[in-house]
Amino acid sequence: MENGRSNNALKPMDSEQLREYGHRMVDFVADYYKTIETFPVLSQVQPGYLHNLLPESAPDHPETVEQVLDDVKAKILPGVTHWQSPSFFAYFPINGSIAGFLGEMLSAGLNTMSFSWVASPAATELEIVVVDWVAKLLNLPEQFLSKGNGGGVIQGSACEAILVVMIAARDKVLRSVGKKALEKLVVYSSDQTHSSLQKACQLAGIHLENCRVLKTDSSTNYALRPESLQEAVSKDLEAGLIPFFLCGTVGTTSSTAVDPLAALGKIAKSNEMWFHIDAAYAGSACICPEYRQYIHGVETADSFDMNAHKWLLTNFECSLLWVKDQSALTEALSTNPEYLKNKASQANLVVDYKDWQIPLGRRFRSLKLWMVLRLYGAENLKSYIRNHIKLAKIFEQLVSKDPNFEVVTPRIFSLVCFRIAAVDNDEKKCNNLNRSLLDAVNSSGKLLFSHTILSEKFVLRFAIGAPLTEEKHVKEAWKVIQEEASFLLSK
Ligand code: PLP
Repeated sequence: MENGRSNNALKPMDSEQLREYGHRMVDFVADYYKTIETFPVLSQVQPGYLHNLLPESAPDHPETVEQVLDDVKAKILPGVTHWQSPSFFAYFPINGSIAGFLGEMLSAGLNTMSFSWVASPAATELEIVVVDWVAKLLNLPEQFLSKGNGGGVIQGSACEAILVVMIAARDKVLRSVGKKALEKLVVYSSDQTHSSLQKACQLAGIHLENCRVLKTDSSTNYALRPESLQEAVSKDLEAGLIPFFLCGTVGTTSSTAVDPLAALGKIAKSNEMWFHIDAAYAGSACICPEYRQYIHGVETADSFDMNAHKWLLTNFECSLLWVKDQSALTEALSTNPEYLKNKASQANLVVDYKDWQIPLGRRFRSLKLWMVLRLYGAENLKSYIRNHIKLAKIFEQLVSKDPNFEVVTPRIFSLVCFRIAAVDNDEKKCNNLNRSLLDAVNSSGKLLFSHTILSEKFVLRFAIGAPLTEEKHVKEAWKVIQEEASFLLSK
């Protein structure tokens, strides 16, 4: 063909070609992991860097995989922030593993579309099984298991999970009080709740003036006080409003605060509110019996969500959502077009996960979770979590020993919140100093950590959870932070 170039062209799907190129791609990724420590953790590129490096339009003729991989090395990798680096301590981790990677490959290989049971029965049935398995690892109450009215589903993200349960809760309450009452519905959370709640309110049509963001402070380590909730609910009831949704968090994003679930759940129940628990990050830790206490009270919840993609070795996306009453989801989210009708669905014999989520289409995500659970086993997963928490304790001790620093909130899981302590009680100067420290360390490329604001203090967050992180990486990171801090303090 033209220029002879298409001789190398990939066919849409040819087993031998797939074998050859698949090996090459796995080699590429394996080499990436082997050399990951040689990259600056934080990408050093400037906004728009890629535009000038790539052609204005797509190629008319096929190029080779080698050409593309050369470009990945030269042009893409410089713009990648290396979330899988052992020196990545920012935000919360996003876990990958060999098992998760293999599961993703298998899912891409089978490339099914499993919106309803009949579209690919194994996808739905495996999801039901593995989500039940994780529920049992977490010792969730039986009502969340698939055998009764409840059950679990894999969502793409914790944000999607919170949106679907809010829509379910909204429709449930509106069915009893009438559609016109939408403007009276009130949502409760703390000022530490993830921003996804606000987005869910916006998308679900909840009036923003009816979103109660209840203040927390250091006296409860930023956990929501049940008294604050009760007070707000009583006030809203007096004003003729309808409290309908409460979000509690286990492991808040800023500082891993744990809301008192049992007490909050009691208030939710006595006011007929939907109680959702967001344990996106910390939920994984609760598979360890010694951390299960942090979800004590989950029995009072209507829904519970955790991200296996954050801290349970399962590649993104894999957010596990359980509900006690699956009909609340399906009543809000079901559609039944003619072109999807089938005997199994009509006879109500099966779960059609399209009715538990926002999109119609869905990937075979359960494969990667199944791979992770089988190839590591629950005991290894627990050790994995415990090791990160042990490393966080080591980091916390290192910070505590240095008089220039302070630990800001007590560490619970694998996040340490700390900062250079205020000099001469000058909080503004202290905030600036900590900001400069963060910028200087991160721009060195040696490690990456992040920040938050707690009680108007600029606080540094050091979150351990990357699969490759070892004690030496934590100690090395601390050395870099300490050295940079000494330099800043000496100025
Ligand atoms: N909830 C909490 C407590 C989080 O920390 C995060 C992200 O870090 C989220 C929700 C959002 O998670 P996702 O990216 O899966 O939507």
